Amino acid sequence: MKITADTGSCVASGQCVLLAPGTFDQDEDAGTVVLLADEPADGEEDAVRQAELTCPAAAIRLSGA
Ligand code: SF4
Repeated sequence: MKITADTGSCVASGQCVLLAPGTFDQDEDAGTVVLLADEPADGEEDAVRQAELTCPAAAIRLSGA
């Protein structure tokens, strides 16, 4: 599973970070999503899928899943 995150459309809600803190972080200034890796951290596959579904800006995209 490959992850992409569109920082241009991210509205800095932080839901992805709460769901999968090993995969997503937030920029300290803007609050926008920062991908820690382009694949889910160990054990966070389901949480990453949930983040894609619940991101209010549809900024998270998964491929090859
Ligand atoms: S859930 Fe979506 S809008 Fe919220 S911080 Fe993550 S990528 Fe940005």
